[in-house]
Amino acid sequence: MNFSSFKLHPQIMAGVEAAGYKTPTPIQKQAIPPVMEGQDVMGLAQTGTGKTAAFVLPILERLLTGPRSKVRALIIAPTRELAEQINDSIVDLGRQTKLRSMTVYGGVGINPQIQKLRTGVEIIVACPGRLLDHLKQRTADLAHLEVLVLDEADRMFDMGFLPDIRRILKYVPVKRQTLLFSATMPDDIRHLAHEILHKPVTVQVGMTAPVNTVSHALYPVEQHLKTGLLMELLRHTNTESVLIFTRTKHRAKRIGQQLEKAGYKAASLQGNLSQNRRQEALDGFRDGSYQILVATDIAARGIDVSSISHVINYDIPDTVDAYTHRIGRTGRAAKTGDAFTFVTHEDEPLVRSIERVLGDKIERRTLKDFDYKKAAPARDAEFARPPREPQRRRVPARPEQGRGHATTPARPKSHHAGPAKTGERGATASSHRAHPSSPAKAGASRGTSTHQTYGSRVHKDSASRPGSGSRRP
Ligand code: AMP
Repeated sequence: MNFSSFKLHPQIMAGVEAAGYKTPTPIQKQAIPPVMEGQDVMGLAQTGTGKTAAFVLPILERLLTGPRSKVRALIIAPTRELAEQINDSIVDLGRQTKLRSMTVYGGVGINPQIQKLRTGVEIIVACPGRLLDHLKQRTADLAHLEVLVLDEADRMFDMGFLPDIRRILKYVPVKRQTLLFSATMPDDIRHLAHEILHKPVTVQVGMTAPVNTVSHALYPVEQHLKTGLLMELLRHTNTESVLIFTRTKHRAKRIGQQLEKAGYKAASLQGNLSQNRRQEALDGFRDGSYQILVATDIAARGIDVSSISHVINYDIPDTVDAYTHRIGRTGRAAKTGDAFTFVTHEDEPLVRSIERVLGDKIERRTLKDFDYKKAAPARDAEFARPPREPQRRRVPARPEQGRGHATTPARPKSHHAGPAKTGERGATASSHRAHPSSPAKAGASRGTSTHQTYGSRVHKDSASRPGSGSRRP
């Protein structure tokens, strides 16, 4: 199957060709036909599967005919970064259509948004909080809306946006096409879907595209040795671009600075940054000016950098879902990637849950020349917080096992990239609602095995877990 079978308008096909898409991804094959027919669709797919184009292409096709300068499609997304990415896709794929789209989110001035809304756009990509502001003060009008998309619905629920979404729905015509995309289907999202979708077609892909090309490895390490291990790992690994996840904003900032000091082109991305600085960090990571980006989950949500070669979980995420979301950042679009996770002793219950999802034991590795016995400093303020309770998830899916691949050593870049992007406060209506940050962990760990070959690959259907229950933080 290729894109011509969708019979898209030549102006839209030009966008598909310019984007370099040759074959539709599984979610595109399944979702594009019913969306083009005007049906409601519930899509179980996560970032990295090509889901954005799965809804953007039919929307562009629909809007090509009919009135202009009225908001006819609205896409609601949990974060500013994801909103920008979706908008970029619309701009790229719809370049020849002359349809106009804009992003609406907090943390930036409202007046430029009001002006742009006044000039007339057909598509809005919005985060819930700021969109509600516009609706309340009547600077946005959704009376002519034809298509509503809720993207990453489970994450919006996690971030506490469901009440805002319900409020937004009051401004939207009852007769419309509604598309809901979610990587998981907790009960609250299922209820919402039941309420707002009309006879939906359900399409579902697992983590086929991103994850079957990812190899996983665990690095058991004591908490206080993580930064040393990170440096050692980076020295011994051939990394094109690395996304490092930490549990706290403070830690993301600190590690970004330490990496910079060590000579890496690194930046941090966390909720305390202004929108401009976030964008700068993201753009720099995307265009390769930064080789390493250190981020918290929320800040990194939806990051689409197709060339990410490694995801390193400096801190293991809180849930299995968050793990699959994180590693979905690497191995995108059928490229290979590696996911390394530092684990302390107290992470073991969560590791077992992740292994149940992967359907395989994840390989434990140690670095040969690294001193795992080094004593902890007398007092380390960063890590001297109470331990976090491990969370367990129900994990029915059992993907197949696969093979791994090896990496080769690399050196830090010799040149500096300027100061880490840190410091400013610029949280938005949206980001203020972000989930509460979990307390950092403390505690000892143990090293397990010693070999250094690569571990399991994961195959499809590991992420979509209908009925996996609510995951309110
Ligand atoms: P998404 O899941 O929408 O975030 O897309 C993940 C990545 O896959 C993005 O970089 C898209 O540009 C890319 N992509 C989407 N559809 C295709 C396709 N049919 N062929 C190749 N790459 C694609």
